[in-house]
Amino acid sequence: ADRRPTRGRSQAFVGARSVESVREDFPILAEVVDGKPLVWLDNAATTQRPRAVIDRLVRYYEHENSNVHRAAHALAARSTDAYEASRRTVAGFIGAGSPDEIVFVRGTTEGINLVARSFVRPRLAPGDEVVLTRLEHHANIVPWQIVAAETGAVIKVAPIDDDGQIELGAYSRLFTPRTRFASFAHVANALGTITPAAEMIAIAHSHGVPVLLDAAQSAPHLPLDVRALDVDFLVFSGHKILGPTGIGVVYGKGELLEEAEPYQGGGNMIADVTFEQTIYQPAPAKFEAGTGNIADAVGLAAAIEYVRGLGIENIAAYEHALLVYGTEALRRVPGVRIVGTAAQKATVLSFVLDGHSVEEVGQALSREGIAVRAGHHCAQPALRRFGLEATVRPSIAFYNTCDELDALADVVRNVAGGGV
Ligand code: PLP
Repeated sequence: ADRRPTRGRSQAFVGARSVESVREDFPILAEVVDGKPLVWLDNAATTQRPRAVIDRLVRYYEHENSNVHRAAHALAARSTDAYEASRRTVAGFIGAGSPDEIVFVRGTTEGINLVARSFVRPRLAPGDEVVLTRLEHHANIVPWQIVAAETGAVIKVAPIDDDGQIELGAYSRLFTPRTRFASFAHVANALGTITPAAEMIAIAHSHGVPVLLDAAQSAPHLPLDVRALDVDFLVFSGHKILGPTGIGVVYGKGELLEEAEPYQGGGNMIADVTFEQTIYQPAPAKFEAGTGNIADAVGLAAAIEYVRGLGIENIAAYEHALLVYGTEALRRVPGVRIVGTAAQKATVLSFVLDGHSVEEVGQALSREGIAVRAGHHCAQPALRRFGLEATVRPSIAFYNTCDELDALADVVRNVAGGGV
């Protein structure tokens, strides 16, 4: 089959499956808003859920619901089995050596906070350094500012070039004998830049510095292999990869998780408690105090199985073709400036339109049923690098089509021409 995206849905394929049939897996894509068919181009904010995920949540609550680990009865065994099977699914998906290296958290934000507080903070003395980049989401800035303020550590920021790519030479020059940690995004949520993660990790490691990779925007779109990357920690959110909200993942190398301090204290994370002393469980239980988000962890595994069924390479290839198509369609609109023009990009098509506010463009799109984000995308330093406070940000998933990108460009053209 011809795998290039074309205007007609029926001729576009994600691997062996037509996009038309893939779309039928997502009930919400049939939604009509204000009389217009929904066009979901807000995937960087959150993706939609396939029926397989929705059904899995229903099945869990109808047949398996119980707290895990504690009670010895049939439903406790079912829920525990499902929860731990999810951990194995996640581990397999990102190439982790063991499911014990997978900690369930609420999402990327909580994951970064966990690593910052439990692993990095105890290693920081006044004057020590944490390396970030200009591309980061606020979730990968603010937790580091908090631990820096608490410890007297310093944040250093790698610059980006006019295309929105990391300046690798400048990044490598930031490392000093005082550098204790580096953390950066794999795909930048405001610009779509795919960072050269393997090289950046290798540079950090050459200085003996461990790395956290924020995979919130890459896990849904690109193949990930934590062992091939040799990354020390990796985090992502379930809701950006077709899974439920309120569930996310921290991967950490086993020995580093063992060294890290607990994140929160409470039930489930202990082996023994007296008023004199508490002995903690080994990872991952050490980081999962209290009753976790069991059902949504199970739903996340269903989402990952769905992605696997399509094939992440197939997803990446089709989405890349869509991104190229959408970029060209927008470039043809007079007055459009694409923000973020790195050669390696995924999912995000940030732009501004001369003479029109991003709110105006966003509202014109919304009136036509086209959902995009217009704002700062929680990445103000990245946008300010380009002299901007906000952009319009359509973001692509594998269930989108060239028709939808044409519809987007038509609305923007009308706004540019004074119509709509
Ligand atoms: N990091 C990046 C690159 C993101 O795009 C996002 C969400 O937009 C986050 C972190 C925060 O993710 P969450 O809100 O799911 O915790």
